[in-house]
Amino acid sequence: MASPELSVIIPVHNESANIAPLCGRLLPVLNRITSRWEVIFVDDGSRDDTLDLIRAQSLKEPRIGAVSFSRNFGKEIAIAAGLDHARGDAVVIADADLQHPPEMIETFVERWKEGYDMVYGQRTDRSDETRAKRGFAHLFYRLFARFGEIELPPGAGDFRLIDRKGVDVLRALGEKARFSKGLYAWIGFKSTGVPFVVEERLHGATKWSFRKLFRFAFDGIAAFSTAPLRIWTYLGFLISFLAIATAVYFLVRTMLFGTDLPGFPSLIVSVMFFSGIQLMSLGIIGEYVGRIFAEVKRRPLYVVSERLGGAAEVGTGLVPDGSRMMRRV
Ligand code: UDP
Ligand code: MG
Repeated sequence: MASPELSVIIPVHNESANIAPLCGRLLPVLNRITSRWEVIFVDDGSRDDTLDLIRAQSLKEPRIGAVSFSRNFGKEIAIAAGLDHARGDAVVIADADLQHPPEMIETFVERWKEGYDMVYGQRTDRSDETRAKRGFAHLFYRLFARFGEIELPPGAGDFRLIDRKGVDVLRALGEKARFSKGLYAWIGFKSTGVPFVVEERLHGATKWSFRKLFRFAFDGIAAFSTAPLRIWTYLGFLISFLAIATAVYFLVRTMLFGTDLPGFPSLIVSVMFFSGIQLMSLGIIGEYVGRIFAEVKRRPLYVVSERLGGAAEVGTGLVPDGSRMMRRV
């Protein structure tokens, strides 16, 4: 079979109810675009029958393949695995829950043919999310815009088309704590956004808990900014300056008026304040050291337990370099 022109990567984690409806809507769209397409499901350690349903689809339609992880590694890593296994000249990343309307892929491909290397879906509103989540997202993007080394286009997520050039660059980035949104922007290339409305999740509930989102946000900031480390240098300078000023003040006062009753409460308060600051700054340094540790261990990004369809061919031909993945078992 000729190598595919278009690859669609779909990370899935316990999405059994969505597999059939997704294929039902996605495949006609792909067939309208080209016959040389492939779909790669990345089964991110599902514990339901998601993989069996994908297997059934793959038997009916050999252009549907899958990479199945040995456990849950997270969506970011699932996307990385999808990129490793995709063979297309252009690669589309989409969610399984139909929140990313497959029909948009036609527009993505049109833009790509016009010469854009990266076409991202830009959500026009976030009204599907809770207020707290929206507020948190807003705060994160403000912080990122202020301290991040790169600019994130507003409303852009993982739903996008990436040209082969960009895919190869993304694959060459060996980062473990992956913040894809940042990486997409970091690699550059000619990009454009296409607005779209996020649909309701078809079945099931979102897999992102608040705690997961918080870690994700911190990973994002830490991967693209050293501002959290630098704050402490500035604060250190400021506090030293204040300390010297206070020392001078006390010296002059003692010389002019002699000592009076020493102030214990203020002493305790300042000791507590400064130990708090020291612990906090140590913690932040620890976060970065932890990330350095994770990177230098050079563990593979993910472990594959099974491959189906086209994804299995990649296991022998276009093999991702051995340092980044386990061989087929
Ligand atoms: N997903 C995944 N691994 C995870 C969590 C989610 O592969 O650990 C997949 C999930 O199956 C879906 C996509 O990532 O296809 C987006 O997840 P979800 O809809 O839960 O996120 P949201 O749309 O709420 O951001
Ligand atoms: Mg979703």
